[in-house]
Amino acid sequence: MREIRRMIKGVRGAPDILPAEIARWQRVETESRRVLENYGYREIRTPIFERTELFVRGIGEGTDIVQKEMYTFTDKGGESLTLRPEATAPVVRAVHEHSLLSEGKPLKVYYIGAMFRHERPQAGRFRQFHQIGVEAIGVESPRVDAEMLALLLHLFEEWGLPDLALYLNSIGDPSCRPSYIERLTAFLRSRKAKLCRDCQERLGRNPLRVLDCKTPGCRAVTADAPKSIDFLCDPCADHFRRLRELLDALEVKYEIDPRLVRGLDYYTRTAFELVNPALGAQNAVAGGGRYDGLSEEIAGKAVPGIGFAVGLERVVASLAGKDKDRKTVGDQPLEGVFVATLGLGLDRHGFLLAQRLRRASVRTGLDLTGEGDRSLRSQLRQADKERFRYCLILGEDEQKRGEVTLKDMQGGGQESIPLGTVVEHLTGVKRG
Ligand SMILES: [Zn+2]
Ligand SMILES: [Zn+2]
Repeated sequence: MREIRRMIKGVRGAPDILPAEIARWQRVETESRRVLENYGYREIRTPIFERTELFVRGIGEGTDIVQKEMYTFTDKGGESLTLRPEATAPVVRAVHEHSLLSEGKPLKVYYIGAMFRHERPQAGRFRQFHQIGVEAIGVESPRVDAEMLALLLHLFEEWGLPDLALYLNSIGDPSCRPSYIERLTAFLRSRKAKLCRDCQERLGRNPLRVLDCKTPGCRAVTADAPKSIDFLCDPCADHFRRLRELLDALEVKYEIDPRLVRGLDYYTRTAFELVNPALGAQNAVAGGGRYDGLSEEIAGKAVPGIGFAVGLERVVASLAGKDKDRKTVGDQPLEGVFVATLGLGLDRHGFLLAQRLRRASVRTGLDLTGEGDRSLRSQLRQADKERFRYCLILGEDEQKRGEVTLKDMQGGGQESIPLGTVVEHLTGVKRG
């Protein structure tokens, strides 16, 4: 007896993006590329997987990502590889590996793609998710930071999401941060009992992370915590002041958030986050900052850099219900032509004609379900359902006269046109 197979389902936290939703994704991607290239960013595509060591060194051993969330596996050659949980470390690796900085500084690149983290799936959080991100490498000046923040807001404006809140902070550098962390740790230790269990554990290995814990108890404790901006050394304070002057000049609105720290160890100075208050708990739609210590970690070279990543799932969710995208086939505009054939002998001719039209960039449909013997009525119904503007009817009588009938699915009128001029006809005046 034949075994009955159960249906195989997709992996939890790794959603399919279906054809009905894709218009919105493609619009976001297309508009992004245009804006990013206007700011001088060029696309880079790094592999989906990298050596595990890249992320351990580049993100930091003590981080939640490295500790709990990476998809790590050993390949058949015995090498430990990891699906990228973020793209900054891979981009920085590629930039140094291919000596891209020799092309000029800052080197400005962007990426669009899937990232992977084994997190608990919940609303707005997935195990496979997509990011658009930028990196500007090689320059320390706050001018780069200011341009990048203006770019970030410009992208969201372009997508139709202008009303977001930008939060900004400076977390110092290796010369001033240790004294801040010392003070912060002392402050948190004296209130340890009030912290959540995760934070009690974080206290030892990454006390900065306690600041962005979202549990109410920890929020209450950290409300009065020492602020990194009060501990900045002169060069860091100067960098932050110049950045704020430039943002004011660019009319970029922001709020200082002393609890804003990035979860990754390599960040220095500028840290920022963009929030959509309408989204609920998982409301950060983008985040980024300076990572002047990352190149040293990955390539042994001290090279400054800054970047941000935008979570596309949350952007697309923010657009739901408010954008102009068409979600169903029924909302599509009438476009292109459907080739209907009447009679078996014409099937081949119909196919050829459709192919010629497609090669001339005309959206073209034809019946693939039968053997070319479907009724005209049912073919017209298909043309209508698939939103074709015109129907080309190829029948035996027309064939004998060297003509086809062109039916306008919108106005209902029809005319005969010579078979030899169909493509010209439809790519000229009649193109849908
Ligand atoms: Zn906590
Ligand atoms: Zn400093």
